[in-house]
Amino acid sequence: MSSLRVLRAILRGRRAGLLRLRPATPETKFECLKADCARCCRVFGEGIVANDLGGISEPSVLPSCGGVCAFLENGLCSIYDTRPRGCSEYPWYNVDGRLYYDSGCPGFATGESDPPQIGSIQKIEKYFPLPTMLQSLIIRLIKVW
Ligand code: SF4
Ligand code: SF4
Repeated sequence: MSSLRVLRAILRGRRAGLLRLRPATPETKFECLKADCARCCRVFGEGIVANDLGGISEPSVLPSCGGVCAFLENGLCSIYDTRPRGCSEYPWYNVDGRLYYDSGCPGFATGESDPPQIGSIQKIEKYFPLPTMLQSLIIRLIKVW
């Protein structure tokens, strides 16, 4: 995926109120609103496709690269059990070994479930395939801005 496409996805997420990372604490509770929301699947899902072998492509920008996912049906994921890892990890991020969450996700407003273990979440760099300096800058920006 080109850097330009990744940057466009990040901007799209920001315009939708997403990608506002904040450090999680034990008090950070979450519950996905699913079909009542589906914001992440509408904003980041484009580009998640079934490959020739019947598998699902790995996402690049968290779940992916900016746009409505083809697997979203009536607000729900039609491949939920086999969805890409980025989809199942979102809205959690591993930043330098510390757990962060996307405070733009409305699932934190009323959620009751505990945060995941940091070891179960891939490093954030995996989801922002950009040149190293640009990647560091973007990650730093979305943690404070
Ligand atoms: S934005 Fe958050 S609450 Fe909404 S569907 Fe995605 S993970 Fe669930
Ligand atoms: S694969 Fe499923 S969870 Fe992932 S973006 Fe698409 S609809 Fe959402």
